Formats: sequence, C-alpha cells, structure tokens
Amino acid sequence: MVTLDLHHVASPAVRDLLHLVNHPDFERAQQQIERLGGCAEPVRLTGRTTTVDTTTGEVLRAYTSAEEPTGSLLTTCGNRRSSRCPACSRLYAADTYHLIRAGLSGGKTVPDTVRTHPRVFATLTAPSFGPVHNRPTTPGGDIRPCRCHQLHDSTDALLGTPLNPATYDYTGAVLFNAHASALWARFTIYLRRELAARLGLTQKAARAMLRISFAKVVEYQKRGLVHFHAVIRLDGPDGSTTPPPPSATVVVLTDQAVAAYVAKYATKSADASGTLDHALFCRPCQGRGATLLPHGTPLPCTACDGTGQALPLSRLAVARHVRQMIRTCWDLGRLPEFTGLKLWKWAHMLGFRGHFSTKSRRYSTTLGALRDARRTWRTEQARSHAGLPESDPTTTLVVGHWDYLGSGYSPGAALLAADVWHRKELDRQFAAEGGC
Ligand SMILES: [Zn+2]
Ligand SMILES: [Zn+2]
Ligand SMILES: [Zn+2]
Repeated sequence: MVTLDLHHVASPAVRDLLHLVNHPDFERAQQQIERLGGCAEPVRLTGRTTTVDTTTGEVLRAYTSAEEPTGSLLTTCGNRRSSRCPACSRLYAADTYHLIRAGLSGGKTVPDTVRTHPRVFATLTAPSFGPVHNRPTTPGGDIRPCRCHQLHDSTDALLGTPLNPATYDYTGAVLFNAHASALWARFTIYLRRELAARLGLTQKAARAMLRISFAKVVEYQKRGLVHFHAVIRLDGPDGSTTPPPPSATVVVLTDQAVAAYVAKYATKSADASGTLDHALFCRPCQGRGATLLPHGTPLPCTACDGTGQALPLSRLAVARHVRQMIRTCWDLGRLPEFTGLKLWKWAHMLGFRGHFSTKSRRYSTTLGALRDARRTWRTEQARSHAGLPESDPTTTLVVGHWDYLGSGYSPGAALLAADVWHRKELDRQFAAEGGC
C-alpha cells in the first residue's frame, strides 16, 4: 500500500478525499455514495438485519453495517426541500408526478379506465389583502404598467409586495395561510354537498353512486400567500376502479400536462417566496421567551433574551414583505385566541402548517408504496449482485435493529457525492434537451 504525505495539501476536504481514495475499501465506499444518488445529507446508521427461513429457522443471510467501509450504513435523507437536498427533493417531485399521473391515466395499481372519469383541474387562490405590485395584461396579452405607474420586469423583487405596506392587511394574510388547510377541508365538504344537490339526491344516496377523489399541491405566491392546485376527479362508489354515473360529464384535459404542472409545485412550493427552510423560534423556551418555574413564575429565557426567537427577526435574510409576514406571525402568536395555530412554530412558513401535497385515499397509489417498490427493487438488485438465492417473502422474515449515528458525509465523501449529483444533473439536462 502507498502511504501518502498529505501535509502540503491545504484544503481539508481534498486531504480527506485523498485519504479516502487511498483506502483499500475505496471502491465500496464509492459504490455506497453512488447508491445515494447525490443526496446532500445522508443519514448514518449502525445495526444489522438477519433474514430467517420461518419454516426451518435457518439464518439465510446476515448483514451488519460493520461490513461497510466506514462501519456504518448510509441512507438517503429524503428531504423534500431543494435548498436542503436537491437530489432527494427531485425524487420526491418525481414520485408526486407519478402519483398524480396514475390518478389521471392509470398505472401503479390504478386501472386504465380511470382516464374516462370526469376530472377538473382547479386552482384555489387567496382573496386580496390589499393592492400589490403586479404585471397586468391587456386583452391582447401585452403587459400594462402597474398601479405604481412602473412597467415591472418579470424578475422584479417588488412584484407581489404591497403598494402600501402601512395599510396592507398582514393580519388577514397570515390568518389565511394559517387556516388554508381547514378551508380546503371545508371546500371538499361543500363540494360533496353541492354535487348531491345537483343530482337531486341526499348526500347518503349520492355517496352510494359517486365518490370525489382529489390530489392537491400547495404553492406560495409572490405575495407570500399559499394557494392550491388540485385535480378533482369523479369516481364510482369504490373509487378509481368503478365508473361514475353517466350524468357526470368529461372535461377535456391532457393528463401529462396536468400531472407535470401539479407536480412541479410539489418541490418548487417548498422553497418559493423567500420562505425559510427552518423554524425560527428559540428551542430552549419553545418560542415563549420564558420558562415557567414550578410555582408559575416566568423566568426570562437566557438563550433568546426573552424574545422567543432563535435569531432576531431583523437579521433574517429575507425580503421586507416576508419579514413583515413573519413578524405578524410572532405578534399574533402572543394572543391567547390564536395559540392553537402555533404561529411561532410555523412563522418560517408564513403561518401555513399543512402538507405540501395531499390526496384523498382512493385517488391513486401512495408515496409510501412508490418508496417501498423502489426499496424492494434495490434489495433485489443487491441480492442478485451478491449472487444470493432469491428468498420467498411468504417463508422468510427479516429481523433488524438499527441505531441513528448522525448525518452528513466526511468532507472528502461530500466531494464525491457532489460529483455524483453533478453527473446526474448533466444526464437529466441532456435527456430534457432531447438527447437519448
Ligand atoms: Zn437527501
Ligand atoms: Zn408596481
Ligand atoms: Zn428562548
């Protein structure tokens, strides 16, 4: 083995990388990183799994993380935000696309006949909380000047921000975000009621012949308000497998375009509008600014000087309008009538605390099922690579015990992971530009 003198290498990351490359197990370490597909912050686990034949009790296979070059098993972080992990967030977007697509054209356990079911693609937008800078258009499609008399460029940071921040209804805007999920739930109830009424049926009778399935994703508008893009589909009583009554009619819509449009927001939304990807409240006092002594006397929190904020809001690197939304979350969070909205906890999301993508139970497959399918495929690949016999799921049992070690790469491994991500990105761009 070659010994390296690395003292002259200034960069610690490069030094670590050279150590790694020189390691006898380098090839396996690289394979492990390759398998993570460029995940930025993998989770390190230690533990073992044993595959047992349940009929004979024989141990067919045993795996322990001690066999790995680093002594630990790396798994993907699964983060949905591209600011945290571009690789995992793209996988999430791809899964969301397949989930929405399956509900429109079939596939992934959804029958193809689902494409004959009537469906609507709807966007549900928040009301106005005061005039904002915008790019209005003429009926001919030309851009007209804003009310401020300027012709804004499409990238102008002023777009979506209030013309007059002093009179803008920030309270209304934050409370809208905080109630958006509840409003959606109310909308689905009213929609069911309305459809039953249109069919001249009681709700119970309508349910026996018609079911409403939906998938929706959330997007932040420039003004910092959430809105929903939804696919609403009419099914028979058992969901996607049964046709709706003939009186329900079809709206023409291309499945692929809608699925792509909706899925695009699944990750885009999580980063848009200058919202932040981490909570802003002070952890030690949970945002209260004080801890309560046993007899109820408040003791000011020393970690945040009683502000309840992990970092003073004035120091957040966000646009002024976003900062004002965050500040409003803080002010409203102090009022007893809004404690249930947990506005401190969700201030970084400008008050919104729902899920980025949701669907009704019978819309199509689930994200979990897609992940399981991928895991099964990977396990199968690993098994055949190792030349191991196929195991019958009805007679085998996998027992495992795993502990969390930490997350992230060593500095050198991070360089390798960045390279994997970069290569994947180039492949993806090449494919998008019509290569093959
Ligand atoms: Zn990741
Ligand atoms: Zn303007
Ligand atoms: Zn504190």
